Amino acid sequence: MTDITTAKTAPETMELATFVTTDIAGITRGRSFDAAQTDEYLRKGVGWVPANLALTPFDVIADPNPWGSSGDLRLMADPNSKARVTCLPGVSPLHFYHSDITDLKGEAWDCCVRSFLKRTLEEYEKVGLKVVAAVEQEFQLLGVDWPHAPSFGLRAQRRADPFAPLLMQALREAGAEPETFLPEYGKDQFEITCSPSPALEAADRGITIRAITKEVAALFGWNASFAPKTQPDGVGNGVHLHFSFTDLAGTPVTFDASRPGRISQTAGAFAAGVIRHLPALIAFTAPSVLSYLRLVPHHWSAAYTCFGERNREATLRICPTLDLPGRDPSRQMNMEYRAVDACASPHLSLAVVLKAGLEGIKAGLQDPPLISSDPSELSEADQERLGVRRLPASLPEALDRLVQDEVVTGWFSEDFLDCYLAMKRKEIELVDGLNADELCARYAAIY
Ligand code: GLU
Ligand code: MG
Repeated sequence: MTDITTAKTAPETMELATFVTTDIAGITRGRSFDAAQTDEYLRKGVGWVPANLALTPFDVIADPNPWGSSGDLRLMADPNSKARVTCLPGVSPLHFYHSDITDLKGEAWDCCVRSFLKRTLEEYEKVGLKVVAAVEQEFQLLGVDWPHAPSFGLRAQRRADPFAPLLMQALREAGAEPETFLPEYGKDQFEITCSPSPALEAADRGITIRAITKEVAALFGWNASFAPKTQPDGVGNGVHLHFSFTDLAGTPVTFDASRPGRISQTAGAFAAGVIRHLPALIAFTAPSVLSYLRLVPHHWSAAYTCFGERNREATLRICPTLDLPGRDPSRQMNMEYRAVDACASPHLSLAVVLKAGLEGIKAGLQDPPLISSDPSELSEADQERLGVRRLPASLPEALDRLVQDEVVTGWFSEDFLDCYLAMKRKEIELVDGLNADELCARYAAIY
């Protein structure tokens, strides 16, 4: 462990910059070079390997996969996504760029999830909409040695000092625009929120926040774990995706005071598309074996095809607006998709929820019924009447539901789907036979 009060990086230490890609296992990987040569690398990218996409979280490549040992790709960095942190004591600057995966001619690879999100956002622009998003994340500090402190408590935060201010400073320096840091309900659990931004940047930011949080925690000798559960009977770590829309001129179009839930017709149709395809989307947004220990009723997570207003058991929730004088609700109105966790790619998760929503917008679907109570407590008749169904309860079930939804599978190339399914089936095999405690430990060591 670094002694963060005394350690110094030698002034002559070379600074590295890294081009990163965050893959379908939600893991950020990449290649580094002398930061002084960044301009040259921004022009030419760094090398990458197709079969890397078949990597399970456990560093085993699913075999067969569509590529095997053949093929070459590039990581082409987005210069606008630069994150550079110099304020951390004892380590060299953390300096990286989110990248698209391209072929050797610089064309987007059909399996690049960041490019998939970009294409999805272009489809929104074609129907006159821009997407604003934010990724809100919970995590737990593992390896800490301190007395219990109450949930949401000031003590819970100060116990970890100077973790929170150092983290907030590092996030701000990286351009991640952190908003609030809060001690959460679970044991040693915290949450970070950040400002809304264009959706591509929001996905990049979600990853940047995770990477920096892990880095800062490691300086204290802790593991900041974003795993969906770190103990079978503990509180889950959620990732919540927030969405709102503007027209191409930037005028908000999510709010309509005259309609149920005060959401616009566009937002209602979006919600209907998401709820319709939800059982298939889950395979991407809750993509690990462990994810299904979190997605259970009474966990404030997401267990049903349920659209709710201010309802934390709803999978898609209309968030409250602050109705103080001078605060325009049309600029605040947003919806939150709650069935995500850190085992998922933020780019892929945002993209599939947006694609499903776009199906609803294009078909002009009616808003789903708004449910304000816990969906697990509705009678069977009410569930039936309101279209409330239990979401897949395991990863194999979620993969089956994905394969059955031809609209959703139709969004992807054959190679991508083959790779995704092969990787997930290998992941299932690799944790087969582990009990719940072992499963939590296995994933908490990675996420
Ligand atoms: N910890 C909950 C989850 O697993 C979320 C709690 C909240 O609403 O912030 O998603
Ligand atoms: Mg929370």
